[in-house]
Parts: sequence; structure tokens; C-alpha cells
Amino acid sequence: MQAICRSRVQIPPEAYFNSKGDKMNLIFLGPPGAGKGTIAQHIVNDLNIVQISTGDLLRAAVKEGSELGKKAKEFMDAGKLVTDELVINLLKERIEKDDCKNGFILDGFPRTIPQADALGESGVKIDKVINFKVEDDLVIHRITGRRTSKSTGKIYNIYPDCAPNPPEGHPEEDLLQRDDDKEEVVKKRLVQYREQTEPLIGYYQEKGLLADIDAAKQLDEIVADVKAVLE
Ligand code: AMP
Repeated sequence: MQAICRSRVQIPPEAYFNSKGDKMNLIFLGPPGAGKGTIAQHIVNDLNIVQISTGDLLRAAVKEGSELGKKAKEFMDAGKLVTDELVINLLKERIEKDDCKNGFILDGFPRTIPQADALGESGVKIDKVINFKVEDDLVIHRITGRRTSKSTGKIYNIYPDCAPNPPEGHPEEDLLQRDDDKEEVVKKRLVQYREQTEPLIGYYQEKGLLADIDAAKQLDEIVADVKAVLE
């Protein structure tokens, strides 16, 4: 599998500079429900970079009914991680695209040590890894309240203490819950996170790239903390 990981992308280091001329390739690390996706949406415009969520890419492949989507669906429905080989190839194809030239936030990748190794071996330089820290109870609360608007694709949370809430009067039938956001699947996803993804904290700490963020705070505070780390 490592050979597949290494083979495809030759990205010149100068390909990743933001408008200030600084490289800005970020990894958002943290359990599901830590707010990685929502916070990335608040950061990308400021930095003129793109958000890449492997979860979104996989869900799009499932919706399309592609071969990759069919293979991935089984794992996703069970709250398990999709195989490294599938996800690594998907990610590498994505970061070759033109819109990544100023940099990107990887949201939900890497999730295993082999994925992190593959990213490192592809020659892409990572500038910072933001580690969103949050307890399991809060994660379960946040995720089970998460809904996607069928009409706009926007992500909301139906619990009043979890931002962003849907606008007042938003039709309930427009809000869908992901199958893997149901409590029993969330618990399995958390086990996968602790076993397979948490070791990446030490991995990136050793490389001097890690910055811890308290993700139990309110959304606007977390966004401010992340911006402060990136300045
Ligand atoms: P997310 O939306 O990031 O929570 O991802 C939803 C699901 O997609 C996960 O529970 C996994 O099944 C799968 N997935 C997303 N990213 C990865 C990854 N980097 N490695 C393996 N599986 C992934």
C-alpha cells in the first residue's frame, strides 16, 4: 500500500503559498464532533485557502454510486474508518487540483499513522496541525444534534447550546441527520478515533507542528483561538 501512496503526486513546494506569500497547509485533528469542519469554514476565506474534508469526498462518492463509494459505504455505515489505500488516493487526487495552489485545510485526514506517512512521503509540507481537544460526552451531544439542510447543504445543530442553529422558522423536514451521526454509530466512531487517530497527536508533536485548541468553548471563541495560533 505504501507504494501506491507514494507513486502519484509530484507537487512542487512553491505550489503552496497564500496571498501573503506564506505557505499555509494545515491539518485539523480531533474527534468527530470537535467542530473541525465548521471552524474550517470560518478560516478558509481569511486565508484564501480551501477546506478538504475526506468525509465529504467519501459521501459524494457514495451519493454518486461510484465503485469507490460502494466500497466506502460499508465502512462508513459501521462507524469504521475506510481503508487507508482508498482514502489516500482520494486525497491525493483532490490536492492536485488547481484550487489547492494557495494551500488547504485537511479536515479529517490523516486519521491513521500510515495516512500521515503517505502525506509526508508525497512531499507536501504541512505548516501546522491544530489539535481540537474535547471530551466524549460533549462530542456525542454535539453530533447527535447535527443536521444538514437538504436544500442548501449547510450544517446546523438543533440543540440551542450548539452553534450554528438553523434560522428561525427553518422547516424541520429540510434538516437531515446523517446515519453515522446516530448515537450508537458515534460511539463506534469515537473508539476508532481513540485507537487509530489519537496516536497522530504524538506523531505531529514530535515534528514540532502541533497546537492544542480547547474545542469545548463556544464557536466564535474557538475560531478566534485558531486564528491567534496561525498569526
Ligand atoms: P467525517 O465526516 O470526517 O466524520 O467522516 C465520516 C466517515 O468517513 C468516517 O467515519 C469514516 O468512515 C470515513 N472517513 C473520513 N475520512 C477518513 C479518513 N481519513 N480515513 C478513513 N476513513 C475516513
